[in-house]
Amino acid sequence: MPKISKNTLVDVSHYGFVVEPRYYYFGWSKSPQILARKSLVDMLKLAKAKLPAGYNFKIYDAYRTYETQKKISESFWKRLKLMHPRLGDEMLFLLLVKFSGGVLKNVPKPDSHRNGGALDLTIIDQHGASLYMGTEIDDLTEKAALDYFKNKRKKFFSMERLAGRNRLMLEQVMTEAGFKGYKYEWWHWSSSN
Ligand SMILES: [Zn+2]
Repeated sequence: MPKISKNTLVDVSHYGFVVEPRYYYFGWSKSPQILARKSLVDMLKLAKAKLPAGYNFKIYDAYRTYETQKKISESFWKRLKLMHPRLGDEMLFLLLVKFSGGVLKNVPKPDSHRNGGALDLTIIDQHGASLYMGTEIDDLTEKAALDYFKNKRKKFFSMERLAGRNRLMLEQVMTEAGFKGYKYEWWHWSSSN
């Protein structure tokens, strides 16, 4: 049997996690498989053990090819342009990089989707239902920020407070397992080393 090193890409569905390959559904990825670095999957097993009994993670994306990254960026660019009709291309580009990471061919950073070093995920309950997090995955607004519902100066409705508590649960189990969050996207987690 070949040795699985910590940088080997493995199929996350083989490790007890639920997957929803949205970019495959969208036609942006050729494969329904979600691959991530073995070291990351091991960390996610630690995080899962800290969830309430019966809960699990649903993973939307991890390793990305250049082609998939390009399709995501093209789609986000169209969305951002419609959302911000008055913004110039330079400002739109900054938003694009914030939410998609851009489309560099060579990615030196180890904690990137392009290296299989980042996971997009949420928590599901014992019935398989996603916990309410206040926005969808790939929401391109300020509400996607991990700490958005922690803002003490804002008044939140009860559903928003629920989203805040759910995000806090996610943040706690992930950081305790050694993950690093991304402040603009509550669903994006990478290895902190
Ligand atoms: Zn991500």
